Formats: sequence, structure tokens, C-alpha cells
Amino acid sequence: MQVRFWGTRGSIATPGPATVRYGGNTSCVEVRSDSGEVILLDCGTGAHALGQALKEQAKACSGHILISHTHWDHIQGLPFFAPLFAPGNEWHIYGPRGLGQSLQEVLAGQMEYAYFPVALNAFAATVHFHEVVEGGLTIGDVRIATHYLNHPALTVGYRIEADGATLVYATDHEPHSPDAGCGHAGKEETGDIAHLDFIRGADLVIHDAQYTAAEYPAKVGWGHSSIEYVVDAAIAANVKHVVLFHHDPARSDDAVDQLIAKARQRASDAGAHIEITAAAEGEAINLHGQQEPKFSPFMPSSLVNPASDLLKELILIAGVSDEERAILNEAAEADSIPSVLVATDKVAEALASGHPSLVFLGDADSAVDPVLLCQKLRSVNGDGRDVPIIVVTEQANVSAERGEVAGVTDWLTRPFSMQYARSRMRAWLMRSMLRWRKAALPQNEEERLEAVHKLGLLDTEAEERFDRHTRIAAAALDAPIALVTLVDRDRQWFKSHKGFDFSETPRDIGFCAHAILEDKPLVVTDALNDDRFAENPAVIGDPRVRFYAGIPLHTSDGARVGALCIVDHKPRTLSSTQLKMLQDIAKLVEEELEQPLGADVAHIERVPMGS
Ligand SMILES: [Zn+2]
Ligand SMILES: [Zn+2]
Repeated sequence: MQVRFWGTRGSIATPGPATVRYGGNTSCVEVRSDSGEVILLDCGTGAHALGQALKEQAKACSGHILISHTHWDHIQGLPFFAPLFAPGNEWHIYGPRGLGQSLQEVLAGQMEYAYFPVALNAFAATVHFHEVVEGGLTIGDVRIATHYLNHPALTVGYRIEADGATLVYATDHEPHSPDAGCGHAGKEETGDIAHLDFIRGADLVIHDAQYTAAEYPAKVGWGHSSIEYVVDAAIAANVKHVVLFHHDPARSDDAVDQLIAKARQRASDAGAHIEITAAAEGEAINLHGQQEPKFSPFMPSSLVNPASDLLKELILIAGVSDEERAILNEAAEADSIPSVLVATDKVAEALASGHPSLVFLGDADSAVDPVLLCQKLRSVNGDGRDVPIIVVTEQANVSAERGEVAGVTDWLTRPFSMQYARSRMRAWLMRSMLRWRKAALPQNEEERLEAVHKLGLLDTEAEERFDRHTRIAAAALDAPIALVTLVDRDRQWFKSHKGFDFSETPRDIGFCAHAILEDKPLVVTDALNDDRFAENPAVIGDPRVRFYAGIPLHTSDGARVGALCIVDHKPRTLSSTQLKMLQDIAKLVEEELEQPLGADVAHIERVPMGS
């Protein structure tokens, strides 16, 4: 694919003699795949010249515009993008799904009569609007993953895989940890680890680099990265080439030159071999590779429409200072979401009765450790299991691992502005509004994993002694798919898979990961009617699960290591006789679990039946 920069500046267009080389237009990047897909990343003022160029090249042109967020510097070129005004053209515009107004309404806002002479509905081209949440989508042979960035407006980054190469577009983004922003690599916060994963291994990363670490302390909370952070993150994530982007309007060409030199010095001091350049208007980069796509076929769709009824949402806030309470309250109110303050010792009760959509736990009360409290709440059965719980804290207290074990969904680090809290609240709510829950971690997860690994079965060859049971289960219960699943740390691995071609799927989308939470069978008669599964990628995409019945598989010590399950593509039920049959087969599978590898071929004397 080819990448070409038409706008590189952040915040506001800055034409003039001091910005001739790196450019004065705001964010707009053109991506063309070898197969001819035209994709624009953002539509800042740079889109005007691109539109003219496209108009000259072809009579009709069509393509896709991926918008990171709707701040002016990312959308102001849209009303001046000529291909949208030519009949016969077809354009698709993507942008983050908001809570109140639709993407189309927000974009129409800047073209209202008072601001612009032509309304959005005057586009002569056929224009389709697509609202995205975190997940994946495809445009022809181009695969795209979306990921929320950290910015005072709900913002998505795009990871684009095509032609054997990977490009990540990540602007506007601020690291969650202010220390990281200052260029002090330390313990990363959860969001920063997720960000590293998002850019990991990319051939080219176009990254927000508006400030220097020296400027950053005065700009904490403005939603942008320092160059030092970008260099550190790109090195840590094994990126091949990072392009500094979203140049500060105050930065002259000479100043950008100096920053590149500093950035390269920082990388070489760290002993890293990484290419660092600054985005320059008009510059093109060709990207080709032999990389296997990392895009999972089981990626959730980013085009689902979360079922949102904001007035039914409720935000619980506990253990924060009055000042923070006021900020969180204002943020919730701005999106018309009711919020209530509860005492930390009343959270469990409120959780059980209030059906909140989001819980904030702070550490303002020094007697209460919010991480411990979260763990306690997670251990209670019931609705409280799924609710996102956000811990409000100083980064010094943050321990990502401890938080994960305790079931902390995410962290909100002080200091935070109302705009910040609001955009992050939107992201958490958007994620939780999806009718799809990843399974909770069992309380004894580490011991359970130990038991799974001790079996010695993971990543071994298929064996007849397991396959015969999935064959029998599928035939006896007339199901197209039957699996013997082991639930590993991050995946479901199938010791036997009948009617399903994959040897593993991510744990996050796994039904068996739910089945191991209890001793009793898990039967989902129609996944589309079940809030835990309705928008699961395995339900809305292949293998299109509608019905699932799983029996947890135990070791002799009682550890629930996996499940025997059957899956169907249509809703159905199991009679009690059928369920009993599945349980009987599961018992037979359990008997094989702890046999030494290859027990299949060993001659095991069996006492004849009936004797
Ligand atoms: Zn911007
Ligand atoms: Zn912005």
C-alpha cells in the first residue's frame, strides 16, 4: 500500500514560510492498497488538495474516509473535499459512535447555515455513514482494527493491514500515565499496555507527537503525546518506522528538524534500530511486506450498534473527593446519564439493586483499598460480575497485574478534566453496552491454569480417544459442531474439534470460558436472545453460534479445566435425556484427560460390560 501525507499539522492550519517543508494543513493521510482501495485517514484541511488531485485523476472516484474523532482539525476539510460533490461517486465515512448525536449529525453541525453555505445533505455523491466501536472491519482486502485512544473526545485509532504490511494511525492520543508522557518509562498503566499492543509490530506508525517532554507537564490532560513517549512506545512495541505527526501549530520547520534529531538520538541511546521521521506534506511512503495478517477472524465487529438507552444507565461513584465527584457528575450529566454517590461500604448493596452500568471506586478514604473492594465485589455472584469497575487513583498506586486479578476494568488517573472523564466514560459505556460479555475469571484461576497445563495436552496432536467422543456427541445430539475445549490463559484450545476448522479461539469470545465458571451445564438456547452472547463475534460472524451446550470438564482434583460442548447454527433446546447423554459423554472425556499422552494406542484391559 502507499501512504501519502496531505495534512500533518495538529489543532489549527498554519500555512506560512515557517511551515513550508512539513506542511501547514491539518490531519489528512491518503492510503491506497495495491488492489486500489482509497482510504483517507481523517479529513482535516489537507483533504482539499487531495480532493482536487483525485478529481483530476479520474472522472469518478470512490473511497472510504476513516475519522479518528470530530475535533475541527480532523473534519474541517470534509466540506471542501470535491469528490463528495460529484454525482456518481460513492463514499463511506467512518467515525466513532457517540452516545447522543449520530456521526452524521455531528458532521452536519459544522455545515449548518450559520457556518457554511452548503449543507451536508447537498453532497451529490452517494455517502454512507458508518459508526464504529472497538473491533474490526474490512474494506475489500484491507483489514482494519479500531481501538479507543485517550483524548478529551471519544477517539479511535486505526490499525490497517494490507499487502503484507501493517500501518497504524494513532492521533490524538495521550498516554494514560503522566510519567510516560514525561518520558520516564516506568510501570505502564493498563491503557498504555493496551496501546502498545495496538501498535505492536507495525511496519509504520503515524503517531500524535505534538509536544516535547519538557512542554508536556503544562499540557497534561490535553490529549496529546510527547515525542519522548512516542519514541519509547514505538521501541517497546517493536515498531519498524514511526512517523511523528500532528505537529504543534507553534512548531516551525527548523524546530521539527531539531525534534527529529532528538528523537533519533533517544532511540540510538536506547540501542534501538527504528526509523524515525516527521510527517511532511506531500511525502509518500510505500509499504510492502510478507507479514501474516494479525487480524483475527474472530475479531468483534466494529460496526455493531450497542443497544443504548442512556436514561436506563446509571453510574455509581464511591470513595472519591468532592472535587472529583463534581467532575464525574458533570461528565455524566453532559451525556444525560444519571449518577449517584454512595458510601464505599454501601457499594455492594447499590450494585445488587441498582443495575449500574459503570462503577467508579476512589481511594479518597484511606481506610478503603479500592482494588480490594473491587475484588470483593467481583466475588459476589450476580449482576455485579459484568459491570465495568474503574479505580480512580494516583499512578503510583497502580499495579496492572494486581488490578487484573481483582477484576479492575480500567484506571482513571489523577488529574483528569471533565472532558477527559467524559470521553473515557463514553468508551467504557460503549464497551459495556455491547450485548456481549467476556467471561469473568474464576476465583482460583492460577491453580486452575496450573491444572490445565499439568494435563500436558495443550498443543498436542489430535487423538482418536478424544475425537470419538466429539463424533458421538455430534451424532447423538444432531449438532454440527462438537468440541473438547481446554480453557488456557488467553485462549480456548480444542483438543478435539468436530465440524469446526480452528484449533483455538481467543478466550474473550469463548462460550466454554463461561461454562467453566460453574459445575452445572451451560445451555444457551438462543445466543441472540442472551445479553452475554448476542453480539459475540462468534455469534454475529462465523461460525454463527446460536445454540450452545457445554458441560464443564473436571480433573480428579476437581479443577474445571475446560468443557465438552455442542454448538448449533439455529436456536434449539435439549431434553433432559439429551442433556444427561451429553453429561455422560463428558464423564468419558474426563476419564481420558489424565491418561498419559498416547494412551490411545496402549492396550487397556476393560472389564466386559455386565460382569
Ligand atoms: Zn487533533
Ligand atoms: Zn483532538
